[in-house]
Amino acid sequence: MAPPSTDLHFVLFPLMAQGHLIPMVDMGRLIAQRGSIVTIITSPVNANRIQSTIDRAIEAKLRIQLLELPLPLAEVGLPEGCENFDTLPSSAHAINLVQAMNMLEEPAENMLRVLCPPPSCIISDGSFPWTNDVAKRLNIPRVVFYGPGCFAFLCVHIVTNTNILDEIDSNSEYFVMPGLPDRIEVTKPQASTWGRGDSKETTDLFDRMLEAEKTCSGIVVNSFEELEPRYVEEFTKVKDKKVWCIGPVSLCNKSFEDKAERGNKVAKDGYDCLNWLDSRDPESVVYVCLGSLSYCSTEQAIELGLGLELSRIPFIWFIRNTSDEFEQWLLEEKYEERIKGKGLMVRGWAPQVLILSHHAIGGFITHCGWNSTLEGISAGIPMVTWPQFAEQFLNERFIIDVLKIGVRIGAEVPVLFTERDQTDVKVKREDVKTAMEILMRNDEEGWARRQRARKFGLMSKRSMEEDGSSHLNMTLMIKAIVEEVAYKQIPNLV
Ligand code: UDP
Repeated sequence: MAPPSTDLHFVLFPLMAQGHLIPMVDMGRLIAQRGSIVTIITSPVNANRIQSTIDRAIEAKLRIQLLELPLPLAEVGLPEGCENFDTLPSSAHAINLVQAMNMLEEPAENMLRVLCPPPSCIISDGSFPWTNDVAKRLNIPRVVFYGPGCFAFLCVHIVTNTNILDEIDSNSEYFVMPGLPDRIEVTKPQASTWGRGDSKETTDLFDRMLEAEKTCSGIVVNSFEELEPRYVEEFTKVKDKKVWCIGPVSLCNKSFEDKAERGNKVAKDGYDCLNWLDSRDPESVVYVCLGSLSYCSTEQAIELGLGLELSRIPFIWFIRNTSDEFEQWLLEEKYEERIKGKGLMVRGWAPQVLILSHHAIGGFITHCGWNSTLEGISAGIPMVTWPQFAEQFLNERFIIDVLKIGVRIGAEVPVLFTERDQTDVKVKREDVKTAMEILMRNDEEGWARRQRARKFGLMSKRSMEEDGSSHLNMTLMIKAIVEEVAYKQIPNLV
């Protein structure tokens, strides 16, 4: 008899941002590997980015499909093609994209109503609270996915549900986050850039998200229990929901192509760097990449470049959207010639999980986006932490204070995503150099840090194996949905 999971049809709605789309595609493939049917619904530009991954999954006989749902861009005043937070003309347009996403309820429901077989469960990004109403009308369960791990989530829950922030007067004062198993100190802005926010739009959306969450069937998290056991437990308690940690989902990418083409087309020289890495000593190179949205002003990019050079530690630096001024500086300073042999600078999208798993990589300068953090952990690599916005400062605290596998670069003040066009330099070249040197030093502290990172890397892989915790949690999630679907199908029960 076929397992009950084969009767299920999961429909996934990822947020149109790389840090949400990429893990949801991995999640979709992991669910399909259990025999269920999976449909991922996203807009055309985003669908195009993940099409090759889905095609390979279909070739591997997974029952997975990708459906396109156009965003009403013209109606919200966005130019054609601006379908992801990384394609916006300016960060001020983020709110327009959110508006367009909020207009998808009706077309999405129409799409779901004609799906064959009919959907049995929605897994939705938390930013689409309207999927809750759709699920109710279709009488199917809804599972929520937000992106971050349980530690950051719990911190956000605490600042949302207590008046701790009201008690703090200054933006630069560090306070101890109450109710956590570890002593975690943060400033008010660091603790509150993800969550309710202070504009009417963000507050409304966040409140709607929380309201919709109340009736969801559970929360699926890209993390693993052994990484943050006390935080998983506490988070489950405060939410009073089923919480399934099923990650690190990036580990489902086994082939070269799946690792390389995860989420986007790789930069023109993106693969050459692998040959360069082949020629380097094991664990000698620092990989630098600040995610899909972090913005480096010309001044900041120059400072970073100079810091990398000053450190004399081999590095590979992926940078997106360079300005004309920065390109001019590179030419005038002959920067790329100067770093030849020691460093490599690549413009565009990095094959990140491929690079992180290369034996030559010994450190990672990261902006502490949760996916990058978890990918660094899975690769068993210590990190230099350079948070920018959202919950990244909380993730930094997790890396530094809880896991103890990182070195802070010294960023203090969040650069709000919507204010990213500012030009001041937050991190100086000496900060970059010092943090890299500390990270790569082979003294007692550095050795212990590397050992801890390796240990978490091994634990992460074990969690995804057949008897691992994340594998088991996926089984439990599917089982819970099978039961809920069966319950909902009993006539006149709802
Ligand atoms: N990523 C990548 N290549 C890049 C930049 C990012 O593959 O050049 C991937 C990275 O591996 C991660 C995701 O994009 O899976 C970024 O998510 P994260 O949560 O780290 O940060 P965000 O971009 O959302 O700030």
